[in-house]
Amino acid sequence: MLSYQHAYHAGNAADLHKHVALAELIARLTAKPRGIAYVETHAGRGVYDLDGAEARKTGEAAEGIGRIAPDPSTPFGRALAACRAAHGPAAYPGSPAIARALLRTQDRMTLMELHPAEHAALRAALAGDGVAIHRRDGFEGLLALAPLKPRKGLVLVDPSYEIKTEYAAAAAFARRLLATWPEATLMIWYPLLPAGRHAELVAGLGPLPCLRDEVAFARPPARGMTGSGLALVNPPHGAAAVLAAARAQAGLVFAARESQA
Ligand code: SAM
Repeated sequence: MLSYQHAYHAGNAADLHKHVALAELIARLTAKPRGIAYVETHAGRGVYDLDGAEARKTGEAAEGIGRIAPDPSTPFGRALAACRAAHGPAAYPGSPAIARALLRTQDRMTLMELHPAEHAALRAALAGDGVAIHRRDGFEGLLALAPLKPRKGLVLVDPSYEIKTEYAAAAAFARRLLATWPEATLMIWYPLLPAGRHAELVAGLGPLPCLRDEVAFARPPARGMTGSGLALVNPPHGAAAVLAAARAQAGLVFAARESQA
């Protein structure tokens, strides 16, 4: 189907939840000299323009990045500054650009994106040494390549959930991936919707070691997503502190009602 385009939603409250936590997690996993393999199954276009027609049409960034001033000494603040230095003051880094800003020469990055135009934009923005960019289905592609080297890995799973079966598919993917690549940590993002469809994902992750972080938005739209969830599967040591640090930095965009499980 591939009708979803992240440019309409870049920098919104859900992106902040995901991106600040991702930046903190990458910083944690790269604290030691050993290299890591960083993978995205649903990469998007890499860099977004908050002055662009899509972002202006929804205005969603105003309820996310528009409400906070990231500290440039934090991992997310560093990645945002690097993206804006390269692409201008209205640029917003997608997850691949955040990773690119924080990974080191000993790390490897593999990005999967199926949409032809998004894939082309991703290549234009991110191609370079140590980065492999594939136009293929992210679940099928990574299961074919895993285990990656270096064996220590972080996999961001960020589907659009346009199709209801994607919740169960994400959980099944996590189970299959860890069977072949047990050193990998997965960060799975999911929306909190009135229909509560994420329950299927959570149930499917049941047998796996998992830390979840769910936030309600301070100013949710009248219809649609009311909050954002992250499941850290096979979480590294210190993952709870990573999630807490991310919440503290992006706290303004979240309501007081929060939960961790
Ligand atoms: N991770 C990105 C970020 O945070 O900047 C946003 C990704 S967006 C939520 C989801 C992306 O997945 C879209 O760009 C869409 O084209 C892509 N996509 C949809 N189905 C896919 C599939 N089966 N395999 C890989 N990518 C897919």
